[in-house]
Amino acid sequence: MSQTFRPTIAQLHASDAVQGDLHAAAAEATRNRFGKKVYVRGVVEVSNFCRENCHYCGMRRDNRKLARHRADPAQLAELLVNHRPASITDINIQAGEDPVAVREVVLPLIKILRRETPLGISVSLGSLSPALSAELKAAGASIYIIKFEIGDPAKYAEFEAPGTFDKRVKTIQHLAGTGWNVSSGFIVGLPGQTDADLLLNFEVARSLPIVGCSVSPFIPGDETPLANGKTASLDVTLNFMAALRLMRPDWVIPAVSALNLAGPDCGYRRGLRTGANLVTMNLTPADMRADYVIYKRDRFIMTEERILSAIAAEGLEASTQSLSDYYISQTANGTVQTEFASKS
Ligand code: SF4
Repeated sequence: MSQTFRPTIAQLHASDAVQGDLHAAAAEATRNRFGKKVYVRGVVEVSNFCRENCHYCGMRRDNRKLARHRADPAQLAELLVNHRPASITDINIQAGEDPVAVREVVLPLIKILRRETPLGISVSLGSLSPALSAELKAAGASIYIIKFEIGDPAKYAEFEAPGTFDKRVKTIQHLAGTGWNVSSGFIVGLPGQTDADLLLNFEVARSLPIVGCSVSPFIPGDETPLANGKTASLDVTLNFMAALRLMRPDWVIPAVSALNLAGPDCGYRRGLRTGANLVTMNLTPADMRADYVIYKRDRFIMTEERILSAIAAEGLEASTQSLSDYYISQTANGTVQTEFASKS
C-alpha cells in the first residue's frame, strides 16, 4: 500500500473481521517502515489564550468562563531540564493562538531547552506570522504541528476553524517551504460531517507537504457551540488512522490522548495496534499558576510507567532516537524530499 491507496467508505466504517484485517495491515505497514520503535514525546501547554473561535474547542475566544493563563518559562524550564521523564526524547510546546505567549514564554523556553537538553523541539502554536515562525526555528524548534482540522472549506468556515481553509493550507506550505518538518491532522466525527466530508480529509492530507498526520476524535467541549454533540466513535477514528497509515506508510502518526476519552482505558493501546508510532505524555502541571518547582520527576512516574507498559504490552519499544533527529536523518538521505517530489 502507498500514496496510491484510497480508503473507501466501507473501510472507514469497518467492523468485526474486516476491521481486524484493516488494522492488522496498518500495523504491519508501520512495522515494515519503522520496526518496533515508538516515539515518546512530552507535551507542555504554555497558554490557553486564543484569538480564534473554533466551535469544537473550549479555548475559543468567546468562552468567557475559562480562566486564562500563561506559563512562566523559567519554571517550565526547571521542570523540563531537571525533572522530565527519562523516556522522553522530544517535547511539544503547545498553546492557543497567542503570539504574546510565543514571545514571552515559548521563545525563551526553546532557547533554554536547546542549550541545556538534547530534546527534539516541536511547536503547536497555530498560524503565526512568517517572521515569528522564523524566530522559533532560529531558536531551535524543528517540527511544526498544525492541523488542517477540516478538509471541506465550507464546513471549515461553518465551524469557524482558524482563519480560512485556504490560509491554513498556505501556512502549512509556507512552513514546509521554509525548512520545518510539518505534521498536520484532522478531526473525525464533528456533528453533521458526511462520509464524503470525511473522505475529503485524506485528499487534503495527501496534497500537503507534511511528514506526519493525526486523526483526532471529536470530543464535545463545555462552553462551546458543540457542547451537546456526540463524542466520535473510537472504532471509526481507529479505522481512519489505519487508512491513513496504509496511504502513507512513511508518516509519523500519533496515538492522540483523546483516543482515551473516546474509549476509556483502551483507545491509546488500540491506537498502537492500528498504525500509530508516536505517543505523547502531558507534562503540563495541573495548575499552571502553582509552584512548578514542586513537580519533580516522581510526579510523572505513573504516567510514564503506564505509557511504557502499554508500549511493551504491544510488543513495541520506546525509541531512543528523537523524532527531530529521525526527520533530520530522513532529510539527509533524501527520503523526505523524494516523497514530497513524488506528489507533484
Ligand atoms: S485555534 Fe486551536 S486553541 Fe484556538 S480555538 Fe481553535 S482549536 Fe482551540
